[in-house]
Amino acid sequence: MTDLDARLARLRGSAPPRRHTARTIAALTTNPGCARRAVLDAAGVDKERLAAHVGFPARFGQSRFAITRGNAFESQVKANGCAELLSLLREKLGLPVDEVGYHDLESVGGNESNEVRHARARTLITRAARAADDPGTLFDHPLLRLDVGGRAVYLEPDLIAFRLRGRFHVVEIKSFPVIDGQADPTKVAAAAIQSAVYVLAMRAMLAEQGLDPETVSHEIVLVCPRDFANQPVATLVDVRKQLLVLRRQLARLTRIEELLDALPADLTLDLRPDADGVPTATADELGASLGRVDARYAPECLSACEIAYFCRHEARGDTAALGRTVREELGGVESVDTALGLAREELRPSVEQEEAAALLRAAARLRAEHLGARA
Ligand code: SF4
Repeated sequence: MTDLDARLARLRGSAPPRRHTARTIAALTTNPGCARRAVLDAAGVDKERLAAHVGFPARFGQSRFAITRGNAFESQVKANGCAELLSLLREKLGLPVDEVGYHDLESVGGNESNEVRHARARTLITRAARAADDPGTLFDHPLLRLDVGGRAVYLEPDLIAFRLRGRFHVVEIKSFPVIDGQADPTKVAAAAIQSAVYVLAMRAMLAEQGLDPETVSHEIVLVCPRDFANQPVATLVDVRKQLLVLRRQLARLTRIEELLDALPADLTLDLRPDADGVPTATADELGASLGRVDARYAPECLSACEIAYFCRHEARGDTAALGRTVREELGGVESVDTALGLAREELRPSVEQEEAAALLRAAARLRAEHLGARA
């Protein structure tokens, strides 16, 4: 175990680590300046349990019903050697042959360790990339690896990477419906950014092997149920924009070692349970430990991070908690109380607050005029 692994294990405590997923990486990049999320995810802390224990349970995530439905739909699409999926791929990608190769990479001879699974995926995918006349191959659950904040993380993709005519396509199977040709745009956007994480990881894998990363297409195949039936339908989605955003945001993530250096060496968020399954550390103790790690709360956290309600509570009274636009417009004015004092001209602005103070006074004047006009 490296020194870094030991520090992260101490922070996490006795629980087994939670694995990064494409969803957590996508969420991480929506708030790249947040050290708290970066540290908790690197340590594999169960954020959902932690948030519930400190009194601020998450209010988003998939219901058990949705997860079961998603698993059933994926099994249906992949049944009988991916028969349904193949007919969709023929239609969408012009698959010219009846049969294709298939590699199940979920385990390697019963060995499910990350290193072994990743090595196997890398061997088969790079071999296919080098083969000039590969007629087409499906790679089921290839275990990919991506550098996140200076640390290699494994991704357990719920997808199939498909190679045809020298190009790989990421296939993402989702259970939200496409009704009359339209799907929920928020869900499509989330699926697109998650698929972009896989495209990035596959490109990194090929580049490491001296192969052209661009052979992984920027067009992913999104498979969803059509209307209210379970009949699958495939759509090509261009994720070039998401790839640009991801690359930029991943580059902005601070290295995890630097974030850990700023924390006390004995800091722990251990959720070790007692005989009744309740964490032995009290909510106050864990809340205080959590508060030692810097956060950067923004309203977008509410739909992306399990501990958002804790962070929102902690940030109440801060202008930054009102959103990115307010944070930018009111640079130098940290608290809502100060903003109100400047708006009412009860406080004298410092030099760096002058611009924001002028804005606040103007807004206060407009508000007073508007209320006066309505009275
Ligand atoms: S909710 Fe808290 S920990 Fe999560 S990203 Fe936002 S500020 Fe960071």
